[in-house]
Amino acid sequence: MQAPLFLSHGSPMTVLADTPGHRFLAGLSATIPRPAAIVMASAHWCTAAPALSAPERNDTIHDFYGFPEALYACRYPAPGAPALAARAAELLGTAGLAAAIDPARGLDHGAWVPLLLAWPEADIPVIQLAIQPRRDPAYHLALGRALAPLAAEDVLLIGSGSFTHNLGRIRRDAVGAPDAPDVAAFADWMDAALEAGRTEELLAYRTRAPYAAEQHPTDEHLLPLYVALGAAGVGAKGKLLHRSADYGVLRMDAFAFHA
Ligand code: ZN
Repeated sequence: MQAPLFLSHGSPMTVLADTPGHRFLAGLSATIPRPAAIVMASAHWCTAAPALSAPERNDTIHDFYGFPEALYACRYPAPGAPALAARAAELLGTAGLAAAIDPARGLDHGAWVPLLLAWPEADIPVIQLAIQPRRDPAYHLALGRALAPLAAEDVLLIGSGSFTHNLGRIRRDAVGAPDAPDVAAFADWMDAALEAGRTEELLAYRTRAPYAAEQHPTDEHLLPLYVALGAAGVGAKGKLLHRSADYGVLRMDAFAFHA
């Protein structure tokens, strides 16, 4: 049984910089059972309707600008899993969430940054699940719930986003700064609601959580969390695996979800 995870990938620099978030991700695989395959719901694949990637082998997409050359040299050539994509599409279709299958799509940095740190050998098959940024958290919870049976098939579902994500507040010289009071207040509220399994409040986070719109001017980086929460089944609770902040504003919190 694979407990679904939410991971904060933070800045692409997470893969190179020696930060607490980097060290957490680098140690992750030693703390959980090795999965047969991984479904990555990344904040960086946004579509209008459900979609799954299904290449034979994953290309590495460098979907960012203005970073050091070493980041563009990173590769994560994990095998794809077309049969798993078909299985996931079947589960989504049964839930009324018909999904397109994209045989050419590789891994965006929301997927490969945490994967490269956690499983650097790139030998576990990976597919991606797109998110739909125009849809709400309840919709993304339903996406995850549809895929819940995969956990018993030794498939690890990971939602990869960022626990807080207001890029306009990042100052690159502030990498180790303590988190700002409003960032901490939002994260504390979310941490508590996740650990208590208060799903209804979490679905209404934008009106319930303090400073929510300030942390997520758009919420595509939080929506993968709802996919992971849903994939753990009805009544799921979060177990906090990691908390830290980059640049004082990018919270790197990570959770495992259990029903
Ligand atoms: Zn991102």
